[in-house]
Amino acid sequence: MEITQKITGKQPTQADLLAENQALRARLAYLIEQAERNHSIMMRHQAFDLEIVGASSFPELIGTIFRTLPVISDLDALTLTLVDVDDDIRTVMEKLGVNFDDFPDLVFVPDVEGLGFDLQPGQQPKPQLGMFDALKHARQFPQPAVRLQSVGVVPLMRNKRLIGSLNLGSADPTRFSPSLGTDFVEHMASIIAICLENVISNEMLKYMGLTDALTGVFNRRYVDRRLLEEIARARRQAYPVSFMYIDIDHFKRVNDTVGHGGGDEVLREVATRIKAELRLSDALARFGGEEFVVLLIDADLESAAYVAERIRAGIAASMIELSHGVKVSITASVGVSSLSQVPDGGKPEAQAAQLIEQADEALYQAKEGGRNRVIRYAA
Ligand code: GH3
Ligand code: MG
Ligand code: MG
Repeated sequence: MEITQKITGKQPTQADLLAENQALRARLAYLIEQAERNHSIMMRHQAFDLEIVGASSFPELIGTIFRTLPVISDLDALTLTLVDVDDDIRTVMEKLGVNFDDFPDLVFVPDVEGLGFDLQPGQQPKPQLGMFDALKHARQFPQPAVRLQSVGVVPLMRNKRLIGSLNLGSADPTRFSPSLGTDFVEHMASIIAICLENVISNEMLKYMGLTDALTGVFNRRYVDRRLLEEIARARRQAYPVSFMYIDIDHFKRVNDTVGHGGGDEVLREVATRIKAELRLSDALARFGGEEFVVLLIDADLESAAYVAERIRAGIAASMIELSHGVKVSITASVGVSSLSQVPDGGKPEAQAAQLIEQADEALYQAKEGGRNRVIRYAA
């Protein structure tokens, strides 16, 4: 009102006051709407933060990011680039059953240079906001579903280490401009980076707890756990599950002649030869010492024995050459059992124990029968 007075220099009329009131009301309504919108964005982001902090596995975290972030941040494209030196992350995740086909917007690069930031020594990379450049951003956005106009490439940092980038794309050319403040995206990226690092190290630990350090195949803990799952599933869905117990023949002699280190090399090569005969759905584990087991899914006793025979032949087929040039001949004996011979009912733990026992019993017969052979358990 004072303003009106100053400008016009005369008393405002009723109509002036009404108009001004209306304008103020409209302005107020706009501000309230803005505040509510900001509040709701903030709440959605807080909910997002909570959701990703609670993710307990790599696929769950990545899935949540790709599903939720484009919606709450109103993005037309979202991709995530991760630095994966020596393919470690990918190898471990695949071993843990992650299917990367489920995440086409997850991109791996072999080193930090692959992220495309301008890396100055002693300086932290900053988010790069600006116009989309098909050439420059081809790595971050290999297959954008819409025509992107502006993008934000935000570094993911952990303890001053660059672990990847979060890549935001918009069809709106004004959405990510270089003048835009970056506090918000940096905050978001820092939470995502923490979650990523946690989940990746957890998965690595999980992996180490389930694998054998010497040969890289699964360990006994893994098989014990997996057997229970597979027995429950096999009984429900009525498909055959078989089990194989493989024991290297006269391994004490091998150790005696080529030393413990040579023996370890033999174990690694035997694991490789066994794996070469298996399908993706079969699980190979080192049960201890020079004993391996294989869990075969959807294979009856006969087909398991057929695979076992291939494994036996593969191990015996050619001498194993050790790193210091010495060659050794190796044979192995195999016992095979099948869940169909284990009485149904009772606890899965008891059924699993019986399945292993039957294979062990068959293995014993293979040893008794002269070694280098496959024996099926016969009730
Ligand atoms: P067979 O099975 O044919 O009856 O004879 P074997 O000599 O293989 O018998 P046994 O199973 O009793 O011996 C297994 C040997 O494997 C004993 C041990 O010296 C060796 N061994 C166990 N674990 C390892 C390991 O991690 N590395 C090496 N190099 N040797 C191991
Ligand atoms: Mg043994
Ligand atoms: Mg042995």
